Amino acid sequence: MAVEPVAPGTGTGEVLIDRYGRVARKLRVSLTDRCNFRCVYCMPEHVTFMPSDELLTADEIVRIVGVFARLGVEKVRLTGGEPLLRPEVVDITRRIKAIPGIRTVSLTTNGVRLPQLAAPLKAAGLDGVNVSLDSLDAGRFRLLARRDQLEAVLEGIRAARAAGLDPVKVNCVVMRGVNDEEIPAFLRWAAEEDLVVRFIEFMPLDADNIWERRRVVTLAEILQRAETLGAVEPVAEDPTSPARLFRVRGLGVTFGVIASVSRPFCAACDRVRLTAEGRVRNCLFATTETDLRDLVRRGASDDELAAVVRDAVWSKWAGHLINRPGFVKPERTMHRIGG
Ligand code: SAM
Ligand code: SF4
Repeated sequence: MAVEPVAPGTGTGEVLIDRYGRVARKLRVSLTDRCNFRCVYCMPEHVTFMPSDELLTADEIVRIVGVFARLGVEKVRLTGGEPLLRPEVVDITRRIKAIPGIRTVSLTTNGVRLPQLAAPLKAAGLDGVNVSLDSLDAGRFRLLARRDQLEAVLEGIRAARAAGLDPVKVNCVVMRGVNDEEIPAFLRWAAEEDLVVRFIEFMPLDADNIWERRRVVTLAEILQRAETLGAVEPVAEDPTSPARLFRVRGLGVTFGVIASVSRPFCAACDRVRLTAEGRVRNCLFATTETDLRDLVRRGASDDELAAVVRDAVWSKWAGHLINRPGFVKPERTMHRIGG
């Protein structure tokens, strides 16, 4: 007798699958487009944020995540904008963690509000946190974030660890001529602090059109910089993670590289995104979106929402076109997508 495959997670057996056979297990939820930084690679210096009534309410977020969970999503990452600026972030975390089928809830943050929020978030069930930190030099940090907050971010990292969040990872976007010379310093610091740093290739999602191919420091170049500290070897990695992992032998530090531009991982992508105003984006670089907020506000049932979500994921393309001549930069910049 033939046995039907049953997906892990909710027990409903449903999976969110696209036309290329990829199954979405991870959902990134943007809680807000607001931010207390103005990172040059992510957003403009002067910006008008979405009016708050355009954002999904906490109840709407929890309901929509429940629909995704029913369709086999198991891991949720809260992001933004800066997710810790959302007043209900602790409550949203607790409620999402309680949804049947959701195994982990994690968060990506600039870290500034972690000293106040790390412990309540941990108590609410938050698993891990990724903290963005692009320079250990105060002047360069100010240049990149357009805010003088290096010490606050370092304090946030300490607070996350003290609260027992696990894992605590550091994300560092590398831009040629800006912070690429700091790669060895970052690795030495990560070794001292016993932290995993993930270097991210600069992607064309900035606001001021500063992205140029020559500004991208590729995986190969990042490894060359790391090799100045000793032999670098690959480490076995989670095949669903966008980061390739390496170790600097001798220094005893493991680090990751997210090579979205030079080595796209689209074929193994298991992610889908929900923007702060309730649109499904099936790819970071998608040029179309599917609105759920209006459906929710017009009284759609969970079954109706699930049908729309299934279609949105089904139509995901094979991969982004950054390396093709026809590449069209998405209208949304990173802070409005939810990285
Ligand atoms: N505010 C939070 C933070 O900075 O961690 C969460 C939102 S931020 C948009 C999520 C991640 O996207 C951060 O690690 C950030 O460094 C990264 N990011 C933003 N713009 C990027 C770009 N153009 N290329 C690569 N990574 C980018
Ligand atoms: Fe804000 Fe994060 Fe974008 Fe920096 S990367 S401007 S902290 S949303």
